[in-house]
Amino acid sequence: MPAVWDLPDFDAHEGVHFFSDEATGLRAVIAIHSTHLGPAAGGTRFWHYADANEAVTDALRLSRGMSFKNAMAGLPAGGGKGVILADANRTKTPEMLAAFGRAIESLGGRYVTAEDVGMGEADLVAIGRETRHVSGLPVGEGLAGGDPGPSTSMGVFLGVKAAIKHKLGKDSAAGVHVAIQGVGSVGGGLARLLAAEGAKLTLADVDQARAAKLAAELGGSVADAVNILSIAADVISPCALGAILTAESIAALNTPIVAGGANNQLATPEDGDRLHNRGILYAPDYVINAGGIINVTLEYLGQGDRAEVEARLQLIPGRLETIWAESAATGETEARVADRMAMALIGRA
Ligand code: NAD
Repeated sequence: MPAVWDLPDFDAHEGVHFFSDEATGLRAVIAIHSTHLGPAAGGTRFWHYADANEAVTDALRLSRGMSFKNAMAGLPAGGGKGVILADANRTKTPEMLAAFGRAIESLGGRYVTAEDVGMGEADLVAIGRETRHVSGLPVGEGLAGGDPGPSTSMGVFLGVKAAIKHKLGKDSAAGVHVAIQGVGSVGGGLARLLAAEGAKLTLADVDQARAAKLAAELGGSVADAVNILSIAADVISPCALGAILTAESIAALNTPIVAGGANNQLATPEDGDRLHNRGILYAPDYVINAGGIINVTLEYLGQGDRAEVEARLQLIPGRLETIWAESAATGETEARVADRMAMALIGRA
């Protein structure tokens, strides 16, 4: 394995920390990309990787993404990410989570964790017994915090509406056809918000029963999980996996707008160029999907209640508008404009 700073995804990360705990089987990486704006905030992923190299690469890439997301969300937080290397059986014990909590504690508050793939609220509660540098914990009514999903859905909903206004000149989602790939926490919440405003929905999920059930409830139709990206719709909203916008999938798009909640939608930076060259309006993923991190970071900082979270979600459309206006003025792609703005905010222009 090459030295960490020789890996292609190393981007002047401030620290990459390796932890192991023999008694519990914990092996984990915490990557701190930047603390320029505050403690490095970002969830922990619990995943079975093919090898350690892949886990380190994931931590490097995801922590950098969090620096950009938090900066663009106006949060006093830097970017970091935890990765726990699960075994093939994905064994996760309270003792292992406690060891991970102690690992976070040893960083003295430079890293603050939250939910990510494979980690739920109960896991964070277990981690929280060993460290206070944890967010996404259960909270009381009216307070910031808890499950980030609903806040992410609301931010994406507001961003989709901004895109509809910008590209189609419509003030409402009523009658607008939105195709959603992945109807889990984020995509499902988005579908409900859009349905309440009268949008026409096409839903797809690898869990076909899940998509069918929601479509029946909300009055939408169902499409195949792969074909959903190429159906004719006013908006394509990726809310499942990353790296789904590729040369091939972009060539097959039949929509004027791509705006969804999934992280890392562009397979490569050039795919942002491909979207732009096709005249498709793109909502940079880490700008539109920041609702969840806004919610849990305010929880951690003890800054504000649910009303403050809602107020900050309302700022997402304006941020997208700024990016789209800059993109139109300079000819630079939406994705590259967002990256440039984020880099300036974290002092790396
Ligand atoms: P989730 O697990 O609740 O839902 C994901 C859904 O996508 C599931 O229903 C799954 O069956 C479906 N799916 C998986 N692969 C698919 C495929 N190839 N085609 C169609 N459907 C597929 O996860 P989530 O929390 O809703 O997150 C969805 C995306 O949003 C992820 O990319 C995540 O990183 C991103 N995100 C989530 C949050 C949050 O607050 N939960 C915040 C920011 C970004």
